[in-house]
Amino acid sequence: MNKRIFLSPPFVDKAERSEVELAFDSGYIAPCGPKVDAFERALAKLSTRKYAVAVSSATAALELILTHLKVDKSWIAIVPTLTFIATVSSACRLGAEPWFVDSDSSGNIDLALLEKALSDAAKTGRKILFIAVDLYGRCNNYDKIAKLCRKYKAKFVCDSAEAVGATYNGRSSGSSGLASVYSFNGNKLITTSGGGAILTDDKKLADHVKKLSQQSRENVLWYEHKEIGYNFRMSNLLAALGLAQLSKMDVILKAKKRNREFYIKCAEGTKLEFLPPIEGENNWLTIMLLKNSRERDSLIKLFEEENIETRPVWKPMHLQKVFNGCRVYGGKVSESLFSRGICLPSGAGLTDIDLKRIAKVISKFAISAK
Ligand SMILES: *Cc1c(COP(=O)(O)O)cnc(C)c1O
Repeated sequence: MNKRIFLSPPFVDKAERSEVELAFDSGYIAPCGPKVDAFERALAKLSTRKYAVAVSSATAALELILTHLKVDKSWIAIVPTLTFIATVSSACRLGAEPWFVDSDSSGNIDLALLEKALSDAAKTGRKILFIAVDLYGRCNNYDKIAKLCRKYKAKFVCDSAEAVGATYNGRSSGSSGLASVYSFNGNKLITTSGGGAILTDDKKLADHVKKLSQQSRENVLWYEHKEIGYNFRMSNLLAALGLAQLSKMDVILKAKKRNREFYIKCAEGTKLEFLPPIEGENNWLTIMLLKNSRERDSLIKLFEEENIETRPVWKPMHLQKVFNGCRVYGGKVSESLFSRGICLPSGAGLTDIDLKRIAKVISKFAISAK
């Protein structure tokens, strides 16, 4: 059997190993330590924010921001339906009512439907949270969203978990809203094996989420607490790994772009399509669009026979059993993207031999699907 090609494996080598070893040898095995501070400074710079707080995951990052905002059952949380569940799970855990909004053909949220949802939510008199998602590393039009959120007095948070290194209109992912989050999970653009960050310009928010992430300890000699916190801080060892990853981000972005361009070339002269390009996208995963779910499933199966991992696009939240009966604006576009979309292998470490194996499957499929 050929070696397995994974969807989006970590791109690490000796550089990461030696950074982690150096951190280990420095004695800072605990959370806190110089690497966490350095990683945060680098993340603030990357996102063009004043503050970055490194935590254990993007899920934790969202939970901390929403806890700071005091989100509870009096809130409505508007989120795109086409996303990973972590976008909305913290809002739900804290008691907010989720309202889902469809995508446009780019995969990101449909702004006209978003405005409809915001205006309906404003009429209820309840507090409103909007969490945008830079889907598959493709940024939203932050200015338009910020304007809508101001108009309807909604708090704007951005889930840029998939969009590390992406830009839009000259702005960095992570630069928008009250706060944004990044993920450094193993399959994301860069990884700390598991990790995330909060990016913000709001000092109060930054200080509070950092404190919340460390059991809400007061700054005194003994353990003094005035509120309930979490144990969500990133460890020094993982921050060392993150710093090494950040220093090769340009290489990763280039490789991801090469992957996408390769796939587009493969599909030339066939009926295979892709999500339309968005300026500044990080090409975290390349998404191919087929005619229907039958074609999607048969292509995934063909890949699997060659020991190549692919995956359908996110299943929309409004189709998930756990969200049965929740309000949804539109839904047909995300349903279509789910049934037609397939995430192609997009690792930064794909070799020419790997790409040839993948191309062979695509051309075999294109011939059979004609
Ligand atoms: C991966 C992902 C998350 C969660 O990130 P973790 O670091 O694994 O908690 C949140 N939102 C989106 C859109 C993601 O893709």
